[in-house]
Amino acid sequence: MLDVFESLEFLKQQGLPVVKSFLAGSRHEAVFASRAIGYPVVMKLVSPKAVHKTDIGGVITGIHDELRAKRAYDELIYKSEKLKIPLRGVLVQEQFSGVELIIGVKKDHVFNQVIMIGVGGIFVELLKDVSFRVCPVNKKQVLSMINELRANKLLKGYRGVKGVNIDKLAGLISKVSRLAVDKDLIEMDINPIIMKADKALIVDARIKF
Ligand code: ADP
Ligand code: MG
Repeated sequence: MLDVFESLEFLKQQGLPVVKSFLAGSRHEAVFASRAIGYPVVMKLVSPKAVHKTDIGGVITGIHDELRAKRAYDELIYKSEKLKIPLRGVLVQEQFSGVELIIGVKKDHVFNQVIMIGVGGIFVELLKDVSFRVCPVNKKQVLSMINELRANKLLKGYRGVKGVNIDKLAGLISKVSRLAVDKDLIEMDINPIIMKADKALIVDARIKF
């Protein structure tokens, strides 16, 4: 299984939109990367082990300046040592907020690659509000998947939060589904891809070949 950094690199190579990310191996590099990306940034643990980073406090958002960048880096290193989590480095990312989507792929014995989508970050798991299809799916099929979601209002705009470009999103999901088939993936978790207006960026992913 690829770690989060390797997974994001792979998706970028395949032409998918990935948030600006830099793998830092020292505090100095983390500060340098933060400055290069531009504050605010997010830092997260990169481990070869499949951990839910948030569960162990392994994701720090809202890092607004150099002092906080240094502290965040130290905190992540401290946590990985305390919890004995094997560490590849600290990923520094541009902070990008919007509507969060999950795109999951799993290879099935009968259907081969099956794709799942859901909207709303952590609420997806809670509400099990997801939609499934056999890969590959074209744009039209993705639009019908989106319509099946109870939370699709979040995409279309809700209570002062502007909607997103659903056509563009559908194109992206279709591309992911074709990639899954072409590369014969066993498993892929894009969780989340964050979308605001016309822009979509993948911030977390795990891929198994
Ligand atoms: P994990 O799923 O392993 O807990 P994530 O990388 O998905 O870790 O981060 C958890 C949450 O933190 C995301 O669902 C998102 O809300 C937020 N987050 C992570 N990276 C970013 C980013 N670059 N910009 C904005 N928010 C982010
Ligand atoms: Mg995640």
